[in-house]
Amino acid sequence: MRFAACALLVCTLSLSAQQLRGVPVENLDRSVNPCNDFEAFAVGGWRKTHPMPERQATWAIRSVTQDDTWARLRTIAEDDMKKTSPKGSPAQLTGDFYGACMDDAAINSAGLKPLEPMLHAVDSIRDVKALNAAMVTMAAMGMDAPVGEGATQDSHDTTKMIAEIQIGGLGMPDRDYYLRDEARFKHVREEYMEYMKKMYALAGENAEQATTDSAAVMKIETALAQARMSRVELRDPKATDHPTTFAELKTLAPHYDWDADFKAKHIPTTGHMNVGQPKVVQAFDGLLTSVSLAEWKAYLRWHLLDGNAASLADNFEETSFAFRGTVLSGTKEQRPRWQRCVITTDRMLGEALGHEYVDRYLPPEAKARARTMAVNIVNELKLSIQTRDWMTAETKTKALEKVNALNIKIGYPDKWKTYEGVVVKRDTFLENVISARRYSVRDDLQQIGKPVDRGRWDMTPPTMNAYYNPLMNEVVVPAGYLQPPGFDPKGLDAINYGAVGVSIGHEISHGVDDEGAQYAADGRLLKWWTDADYKNFTERTACTTKQYDNYFVEPGLHLQGKLVTGEALGDLGGVNLAFRAYERSREGKGPEPTVDGLTPEQQFFLAEGQWRGALARPEMARTAVSTDPHPPGRYRVLGPLSNMPEFDKAFACKEGDAMVRPAAEQCSVW
Ligand SMILES: [Zn+2]
Repeated sequence: MRFAACALLVCTLSLSAQQLRGVPVENLDRSVNPCNDFEAFAVGGWRKTHPMPERQATWAIRSVTQDDTWARLRTIAEDDMKKTSPKGSPAQLTGDFYGACMDDAAINSAGLKPLEPMLHAVDSIRDVKALNAAMVTMAAMGMDAPVGEGATQDSHDTTKMIAEIQIGGLGMPDRDYYLRDEARFKHVREEYMEYMKKMYALAGENAEQATTDSAAVMKIETALAQARMSRVELRDPKATDHPTTFAELKTLAPHYDWDADFKAKHIPTTGHMNVGQPKVVQAFDGLLTSVSLAEWKAYLRWHLLDGNAASLADNFEETSFAFRGTVLSGTKEQRPRWQRCVITTDRMLGEALGHEYVDRYLPPEAKARARTMAVNIVNELKLSIQTRDWMTAETKTKALEKVNALNIKIGYPDKWKTYEGVVVKRDTFLENVISARRYSVRDDLQQIGKPVDRGRWDMTPPTMNAYYNPLMNEVVVPAGYLQPPGFDPKGLDAINYGAVGVSIGHEISHGVDDEGAQYAADGRLLKWWTDADYKNFTERTACTTKQYDNYFVEPGLHLQGKLVTGEALGDLGGVNLAFRAYERSREGKGPEPTVDGLTPEQQFFLAEGQWRGALARPEMARTAVSTDPHPPGRYRVLGPLSNMPEFDKAFACKEGDAMVRPAAEQCSVW
């Protein structure tokens, strides 16, 4: 279209008429040799002037951007508070939700009262039937009680939504915390017991009862943990693929009243569903008969207290923070109340709050520039596939089909959630939270049995993150990502490709990482590789697994290479694809200028280092090693760059330097 081309030309001219920004050079630590420790070189200067605040578990330049985003959302929520808006409108919902959250005087004077009707309902359970009913009621409120269904695409026919049966119910981050004997797990286990006892005491139990109840919770959760697969096992999509009919589900777990559950939640019983972990469903069923009613009641009370602690009076919130914030993550103080309230509003009503956010903070030209960059990176993946010498033409054709079918969503959804039925008042915070959670559960479950809705988003527009969904074969980049230091409309292309471009490349690479490669172009779980090509591919992914097995967060505590392989492959593919796409985007235009004495290639890699580089508190690092499929920020810089001759060239690094892996040890996939 001529008009669009003209608009683009004007835009290009106005951008080049002024000097474009490079990375902030004051963030560099020039006392470090970039060829020895590039992460410290890229971010070290910033760290010297920005010590990690007590409230942070991890700390990176982008943490400050995250704080800025929350401050912007606060302004929107405060503006909404002052307006008189129609009931149920986005401004009424967010203004009153945020306002009720900020009213901690009212929350404190209410104490435990808002939760009491539910606690009484649990107390009055006298038989298994009533226990069953309480579990259904709590699940509808979004509580982990522990049976939950969700809507998922059918991995054998991705045009349809089916039910996924999940048994959750663990209060600690992973099964290892219940089962393993290393000191760090034992320590957390002891602290978890103390946390439970304190919360029961706050809820009015005497010490003896609190001890008995905590032991009951530990007993149930440990049994559920024993049946769970490890996080590494869960990364194999075939391991969790178990199409099951309703009749089969009832046979698998005969002691739970699935008829009543499905009826109450309006889930169709025809066709099939998926049971990700049948052994956990069986273990849960066994517990229904082996555990006493009193123990189950203690368990449900616990999940009501723990699951709602952040919406209750200060003493509950602080007790929860002491475990979840301090023991598990190492943070010493809570975020200021306004931040917690903004985060909760975004989590509960993110598309209401986010609508105004994109109107204010996502200029159309930023969205357009990000899309152009994303398209260039996708094209680079296609070129990469075409030129791989380890892949046959047959598999290349299928791989290209998959990349051609990739859908890219940028900024915000075309169709916004309405939050129909959510009731929010200025003086009932916990009730507001529960109403929003109920909506979220309904909104999810109502999809079951219907054709897939490709317009839905799994992240809210202000989120500073992005994702790839293998069943949808889509990359989603919310508006919150498209701001400095990730994306600077006044910045060199080199730094935009080096930061958000790397992330887009990362997400795209997930389509062909060790997990994503098992899904076909239409999202089905289907092998589309020839055996020989798949073998070549897995040899390449094993190279990455081995490299990350060698990284550690403290002496003796290494990363689990197999847990982080997918994300590490995303990082490796992301930097390579974004770098090559950037270089190609300059063809015919000549290189971008050297800014602050740094070449465009140096700017690219520094942007990557400043975007990904991060510190973590020891407690957080330990928790992440067990639970997070992402490598720590430091290795998201050192890992991919130490495999790239392009990096060595940009900084004139030589063989023998720490950042230069010997050629024979370098990993390369895309
Ligand atoms: Zn990822």
